[in-house]
Amino acid sequence: MDLGIRGKVALVTAASRGLGRGSAEALAEDGARIVLCARNEEALRDTEQAIAALGAEVLGIVADMADPTAPDRLIEATVERFGRLDIVVANAGGPPPASALELDDDAIRAAVEVNLLSAVRLVRGALPHMRAGGWGRLCCISSYSVVQPIPGLALSNTARSGLRAWAKTAAADLAAEGSGITLNLVCPGPHATERMRQLGGSGVTMGDPADFGRVVAFICSAHAGFVNGATIVVDGGATLAL
Ligand code: NAD
Repeated sequence: MDLGIRGKVALVTAASRGLGRGSAEALAEDGARIVLCARNEEALRDTEQAIAALGAEVLGIVADMADPTAPDRLIEATVERFGRLDIVVANAGGPPPASALELDDDAIRAAVEVNLLSAVRLVRGALPHMRAGGWGRLCCISSYSVVQPIPGLALSNTARSGLRAWAKTAAADLAAEGSGITLNLVCPGPHATERMRQLGGSGVTMGDPADFGRVVAFICSAHAGFVNGATIVVDGGATLAL
């Protein structure tokens, strides 16, 4: 199936490896032009080359999604290079494990900054460009913890549920505008990435980041215009919550 995104410009954050990279590669395979960011310059350049080898135009920018100025800087650089912005995949690294009863204020603030506010800022910054084009796809990579909190990941559980509630509200506002812009959450269950290795999740059945990226690409496609405000869980059936 042709996703109908040839020539569209997609910004994918935190994309030098794992699920962000899988998403950027899937969008590139369908003809999108890609802007990606990561904190580490060397890893970023490697990924940039791999995406260029797929035949896509690509721009890599060093940026930390914990930095409140990063979203606007990325969007500005995207529009400067490509003259438009059609797709945003908002991703960032997950917070460290933490017990709910021992959280301190600074740890909560840091998780909210990276896993909630960075996405809100990206959406806010992207909207004027998408409205100008009369079309847009906003997709936040979240976690299956929004439907079933994960024991020991209190920071992730807390910040991501806030993002889910915000995104649902914002998606309804976008629908009311009738602007052709959608906003969805794609929520990974366990996938074979560095993050999962660090959390010691080697015993469970893992998804493939490339397949996850193809789900993201479909949600960002021309065909998914009526999918809005959805929480799409990609977990191989691991979550039992209804
Ligand atoms: P990963 O650690 O394998 O890769 C994350 C990528 O983001 C890396 O390229 C890293 O350099 C970059 N990054 C991290 N923090 C960043 C920041 N502040 N600014 C810019 N770049 C940053 O992680 P992943 O497994 O691909 O996970 C992506 C997201 O999905 C994370 O938020 C993670 O918590 C969440 N998630 C992952 C799984 C899983 O099983 N892999 C499950 C549920 C949720």
